[in-house]
Amino acid sequence: MKFFKKPEDDQQESIIGELRQKITSAHMPQPVDKIAGQELDMIARISPSSAEYTIGITYIDYLVSLPWNKKTEDVLDLARAERILNENHYGLGTVKERVLEHLAVKVLVMSKRARILIVDDEEIARKNLAHVLTKEEYDVVTAGDGEAALKELDVSEFDVVLTDLRMGKIDGMDLLDRVRMRYPETRVVMVTGFATVPSAIEAMQKGAFHYIAKPFKLDEVREVIKRALDSKTVRANTKGSVLCFAGPPGTGKTSLGRSIARALGRKFTRVALGGMKDEADIRGHRRTYVGAKPGRVLEEIRRVESANPVIMLDELDKIGRDFKGDPASALLEVLDPEQNCAFVDHYLDAPFDLSSVMFILTANVLDTVPAPLRDRMEVITFPGYTQEEKAHIASRFLCPKQIREKGLSTNLVAFTDDAVAKIIQEYTREAGIRNLERKIAAVCRKIAKASVESHGEGQHVRITPEAVEQYLGKRKYHFDVIEEQDRIGVATGLVRTETGGDIIFVEAAKMKGTKELIITGSLGDVMRESAQAALSYIRSNAGEFGIADDFFEHHDIHIHVPSGAIQKDGPSAGITILVALASLLTRRPARRDIAMTGEITLTGRVLPVGGIREKVLAARRAKVRTIIVPARNRDDVEELTGELVNDIEIRLVDTAMDVVKAVLISNADFGMRNAE
Ligand code: ADP
Repeated sequence: MKFFKKPEDDQQESIIGELRQKITSAHMPQPVDKIAGQELDMIARISPSSAEYTIGITYIDYLVSLPWNKKTEDVLDLARAERILNENHYGLGTVKERVLEHLAVKVLVMSKRARILIVDDEEIARKNLAHVLTKEEYDVVTAGDGEAALKELDVSEFDVVLTDLRMGKIDGMDLLDRVRMRYPETRVVMVTGFATVPSAIEAMQKGAFHYIAKPFKLDEVREVIKRALDSKTVRANTKGSVLCFAGPPGTGKTSLGRSIARALGRKFTRVALGGMKDEADIRGHRRTYVGAKPGRVLEEIRRVESANPVIMLDELDKIGRDFKGDPASALLEVLDPEQNCAFVDHYLDAPFDLSSVMFILTANVLDTVPAPLRDRMEVITFPGYTQEEKAHIASRFLCPKQIREKGLSTNLVAFTDDAVAKIIQEYTREAGIRNLERKIAAVCRKIAKASVESHGEGQHVRITPEAVEQYLGKRKYHFDVIEEQDRIGVATGLVRTETGGDIIFVEAAKMKGTKELIITGSLGDVMRESAQAALSYIRSNAGEFGIADDFFEHHDIHIHVPSGAIQKDGPSAGITILVALASLLTRRPARRDIAMTGEITLTGRVLPVGGIREKVLAARRAKVRTIIVPARNRDDVEELTGELVNDIEIRLVDTAMDVVKAVLISNADFGMRNAE
């Protein structure tokens, strides 16, 4: 009987052959290369119609398509980096400074001449190695045996120790142990003869960086040393310093990240963490799972075809609440330099070195970020823009950009300063500039349409405040709280929200009842407790407030904070609630043009709160000119400069009584104020 080769077999052979070729040219690290080879051998034996065959082919295709050794060369030029950051961003002084400091450290670490200790009892080998490495501009020291090497190590630290494995009394293995113990950051590379390869592998298991078999090729030596140094500098540099940009939306976090990548000459990509529900989104699915996929981090690395991009992990604070697994530990595997040099994606099932990726996290608020993650990050706060900064950014960046994007010409179309100011004040209410950009885009769109309809291309258009109203409709926000009347039982507070700072009005009402405290308006637990504390303080000092002893026996009190759709929480509304209650119960109106923030204790002390800058910005937007802030926030107040503190009065208070005195007006004054 004679066997004939079927055409499918040929086809299969050619697929397998092609994959084998791809594996060879992918230059994957040795363990991965081995895994790929084994997988290929396995699928070469099975039928192409089986599910395993397809899974196997897809897997190998994936492996070889990853940029194992492909990196962009870093541009480490601080002056250039600064120029790029300034080119695209107005203001953000401290933020840029912190970013440049971060890069400066990187430059320093990278530009330091590396020190290498060569240990070999064979003089020729020693001299050869020293010759090659000195030519590569490393500082090289040599030692003829283990004892001499230890002496050198006693005196100073080396970046790499390149040691023969088999030597006299103290051999390479002993040296490895000593170095690991004393200088954990130092990389040890073993040089070994053919016979001792198994011991070299054992050495790697014990923490050696790599081994080179004798007789060695000089290129291999150069390459291994370079890799050892790369891994060391990247580690030293990133330790504890994953950058985290924290701040409200539209404050330039993403665009600054992009500029950092451009400054470094790296690829840039984003991964949205917001709403992620499954660990597999980060770590990938196991291959046995139907429709298995790698995680997003590796996917992005593959997409940008570089092993050292800048990856922005967006919305750290918005990871889905019903996340399957522990998001913090999955992220730590990605971010922690101790772990990420051998990150194992479940799909890949082999380690991929993420240590040269620059990760930047972003978050609106940090309160919900797990502590282990927060400890690893260097947080840079994006505080939100003042009115003046917004106006600058709009005229310098947003308007020209939108005019061009809508097919118009910046030579012909221009926004007046008044028009920009009107959009900022009357059509947006935000710490960042995202809506501002949208509104400017909307105006530009309408102008583009009008220009096409009237065949008026080539005509000059000046966008005035009137034009803004024509295009965007009536103003959306009325902020002028001063126009409103002072009222009994209503106080103006400042809170921090995810979108920056905001102004709130706390209302209090009383009614016949049985001592009940009703609280409404989407308030969180902490804010409810503040309300209880404020009421208890007033009750325990009823005499001083002139409230009848039995008043509370027969009354219910209701506290409400309107605009219920916004979730509000935190202790900082404490003194605002107190003022609303005090106003209600003493029948003295509260000044509406004074906004306040501060936590209150049962004994009437006022405790410090966060987000002072954001709150001052919110107060300014609302045209409030007097702000009450806890005295213990004095440092934050002193940090405010320039436009932020111009013609604004910030009063520091220590006690509840200070606040009440400052805000409640006597009924005699009341008539006069509202008659003004
Ligand atoms: P975030 O990531 O903080 O939500 P983005 O980076 O997306 O904000 O910024 C929104 C828009 O505002 C982008 O078009 C960005 O270029 C622009 N922008 C933000 N801050 C500045 C700034 N300081 N100077 C110039 N443009 C800015």
